[in-house]
Amino acid sequence: PGKTRFAPSPTGFIHLGNARTALFNRLAGERFLLRIEDTDRERCRTEYVAALIEDLQWLGIDWDEGPHSAAPDDYFQSRRQAIYDRYYACLEQAGSAYPCFCSPEELAQIRARQRAAGQPPRYPGTCARLSPEEVEARLARGLKSTLRFRVPPGRQITFDDLIRGPQAFRSDDIGDFIIRRADGTPAFLFCNAVDDALMAVTHVLRGEDHLANTPRQLLILEALRLTPPRYGHLPLILGDDGAPLSKRNGSRSIRELRQQGYLPLAVVNLLARLGHHYREEALLTLAELSEGFDLAAIGKSPARFDPQQLDYWQKQAVHAADDAILWDWLDEATRTLIPAPCRSEFLSLVRSNCLFPKEARHWAEILFGDAGKPDPDARRVLEQTPAEFFQAALEAARRHPEDYQAFVTELKTLTGVKGKRLFQPLRAALSGRLDGPELERLYRLPGPGRVQTRLARWIT
Ligand code: GLU
Repeated sequence: PGKTRFAPSPTGFIHLGNARTALFNRLAGERFLLRIEDTDRERCRTEYVAALIEDLQWLGIDWDEGPHSAAPDDYFQSRRQAIYDRYYACLEQAGSAYPCFCSPEELAQIRARQRAAGQPPRYPGTCARLSPEEVEARLARGLKSTLRFRVPPGRQITFDDLIRGPQAFRSDDIGDFIIRRADGTPAFLFCNAVDDALMAVTHVLRGEDHLANTPRQLLILEALRLTPPRYGHLPLILGDDGAPLSKRNGSRSIRELRQQGYLPLAVVNLLARLGHHYREEALLTLAELSEGFDLAAIGKSPARFDPQQLDYWQKQAVHAADDAILWDWLDEATRTLIPAPCRSEFLSLVRSNCLFPKEARHWAEILFGDAGKPDPDARRVLEQTPAEFFQAALEAARRHPEDYQAFVTELKTLTGVKGKRLFQPLRAALSGRLDGPELERLYRLPGPGRVQTRLARWIT
């Protein structure tokens, strides 16, 4: 595909669902643009625009055109009103749009009547029949109006969905729909259709919930003689309870995931596989994900979000992260605990033992703080081990403060103990737990002083 886009509305933080839409468009397109759909004055907030940009950047989803381009105004729809007004005038002149004076209350009554009669909700065309004089008179009285698109009767609207294949809609099933709100701002399906054409977008990937908007947008573009993009509708994402993904069944905002300590590459690898099949099962960089992305590999059936999958990718991402990334990822409090010469080795420990920064903090406290109280399992082992063992361990540690292998060999010779009976009490004394990083790290990282204090503590 040539040019794709993401057109979020800044009415909240982005969640897994819209982040997937952004990612798929970014992976699919040779050029990718970000356009902010901030036309609903009541619901859009500037702080959500900032958050959205920050979250996308955090994920590594960058754009070729968008709010940071040379002409940033172009990419905020709230600043493109003059353009939309021109196209409204075109449609009105051609008779393809008309002002509608029906109030929200009247429209609600019409819908209620249709529902009671078992009919689909559809605007009955009340204002389509007003004469030019009647329209003038109402406008002169200062009545508020929306603008409706006049849907041509008896048409078959077809298009080839990039994901779902051939689609057909009857225009007679579509009531005349609003393209301009009473406050003059554009309905989203209008400004998105117009801007996709003006910005030469060639492919639009978006949620399945927008499928019914497509015939409407095709009609608008046809009436304006503008070239439509091709549309592809992504399958729904379901939670592990089988219901559409929402806050209730595990969807989280990208912000929350970041605060919980997920790495962007973990999130991106999960999202890329929600409805898209990759032959490669390993963790991929964005460039690799882009390389392997194929519209034909997007499934038609719903994708399932499994939180365990997210942790799986997190493990891979932590494992693959370089020192600089991991260092930034740690909390400030953890970083201050780690002596500079131990940094790199501590990060190796993190890579193979931690999923989240709080676990890294836990190990930093154990290694470089004052080990704290042993947990119950470790305590049991410590209590069952005779004082002589720790006496010998202390002696061996004093003799070989820098050499773990020599320390262990010496301890074996001194005590005649080996295997689990040697390693468990050592691990318990050095870390207060029976699981965790390799023993060698528990010996080397805290430094000889701390190690000897910890062994000495169990001599009595
Ligand atoms: N703001 C809309 C959404 O996020 C955009 C719809 C579209 O992609 O055309 O759902």
